[in-house]
Amino acid sequence: MADNLFQRFVQSAPDPEKAFLLPPGRPPVSFRESFAAAARFAHVLVRHGVVPGDRVAVQVEKSPEALFLYLACLRAGAVYLPLNSGYTPSELAYFAGDAEPRLFVCSEKNQAAIAAALPDMQFLTLGDDGTSGSLVTEANGAPTDFADAGVSMSDLASILYTSGTTGRSKGAMLTHGNLFSNAASLKDVWYFSGRDVLLHALPLFHIHGLFVATNVCLIAGAAMILLPKFDLDAVFGALPNATTMMGVPTFYTRMLTDPRLNRDSTRHMRLFVSGSAPLLADTHRGWQERTGHAILERYGMTETNMNTSNPYEGARIPGSVGLPLPGVDVRIADKNGQPLGQGEIGMIEVRGPNVFKGYWRMPQKTQAEFRPDGFFMTGDLGTVDANGYLSIVGRDKDLIISGGLNIYPKEIESLLDELPGVEESAVVGLPHPDFGEGVTAFLVKKKAASITEKEVMDALGEKLARFKHPKRVLFVDQLPRNTMGKVQKSQMRETYKSLYA
Ligand code: AMP
Repeated sequence: MADNLFQRFVQSAPDPEKAFLLPPGRPPVSFRESFAAAARFAHVLVRHGVVPGDRVAVQVEKSPEALFLYLACLRAGAVYLPLNSGYTPSELAYFAGDAEPRLFVCSEKNQAAIAAALPDMQFLTLGDDGTSGSLVTEANGAPTDFADAGVSMSDLASILYTSGTTGRSKGAMLTHGNLFSNAASLKDVWYFSGRDVLLHALPLFHIHGLFVATNVCLIAGAAMILLPKFDLDAVFGALPNATTMMGVPTFYTRMLTDPRLNRDSTRHMRLFVSGSAPLLADTHRGWQERTGHAILERYGMTETNMNTSNPYEGARIPGSVGLPLPGVDVRIADKNGQPLGQGEIGMIEVRGPNVFKGYWRMPQKTQAEFRPDGFFMTGDLGTVDANGYLSIVGRDKDLIISGGLNIYPKEIESLLDELPGVEESAVVGLPHPDFGEGVTAFLVKKKAASITEKEVMDALGEKLARFKHPKRVLFVDQLPRNTMGKVQKSQMRETYKSLYA
């Protein structure tokens, strides 16, 4: 029997009758039933001509069936290609043209519009709650066993398109081995077991909700409460039955605004994990005060899966993303890939079994992002402290160069966030006739707070070298964010590009 990710899931399932999925309003689904549903779907894929290595593009809403489809692709040896449910038909046409999927599974309600944009594509559909659509109809009566394709750990399991903040989105090729190694490490370092129930409110088209959350549960034999989306009432309703939660920072900031968050409502919880965007130190502290739990922050990206994590046992440092995972090498390097010393800021580079195989059909781009010794340049800037903890100071492309001097937005943002009356901040460089780039601060005020541009400037006065001072401070109602809660700085640079013109 070939060794691949799905085989490892099967071997890990504790008691096949144990519940894997707990979808609200539907009966629990056991591991056995999940694998059987995946077998039925795999038969449908094969009937539609899918052979190992074929891409299966998927744009559906979150449901148990969406996960069975992922497992069906693994069983059939197909390459699972999930797409953000917010993409429009014309955006989908780019992905389809690039990945050339054999088959496209879309939401029933979108089929007509997508088919018009992709006239030569073969489609199956899935209803938004997962219980209808041609995929489901065709799977009815199909056998509940399936002769799994003999793919191995080095074969592709998935292509995940990066969010593409600069230029077009790139397809990150992830192997069965990439996904398995990461799931196994995270299970160990976060102590996941068959006794765990994960509160799952993340989307299933992104690495966080799909691979970090789902694969860890499958490898650990844990159950997941599969909420269709993040909704405060639903989350607080499900919390008593969970032991762990994984979320993006916005989940935590929103839960902090709710009086239902307290020591009692979280007493039984074992672990809260945050990632995909920076968790403000303020949120970390606020959460700990209210609940007694220190949120565990980890760091990863589509191309590498997870790289570092704060420890389960030991200090979880606010503002830090922790220590390298077992088997993952992390270094801070200069422009030439030369390792820098402790405390110095440079590019975060990583190497290990978690790191992807390359960008789909972009060999030159792939080559340009790897060092000759195998390290991948993440595009994130960071620094490592005396205890080996990594902190991220921003994306390489967000670095501001003003008057020829390097300025790291995070340093200024951290000071701004501490000011009374400031809810959160984002600092970007905008074209400036004199300085090249002008440091520009965007602030969201706390409710009912009154704070002026001059007060902010004065407050920074003593704390920050003159050249790092914002040229302007602008107040906004909210920062633009994508579905994973990441602040879209490229969008801010575009909107305000003429501020200093
Ligand atoms: P994605 O590929 O969408 O998961 O985005 C990966 C990027 O998100 C990384 O390269 C980081 O810039 C950012 N990121 C992920 N986790 C964290 C974290 N804990 N703190 C700060 N940034 C993070």
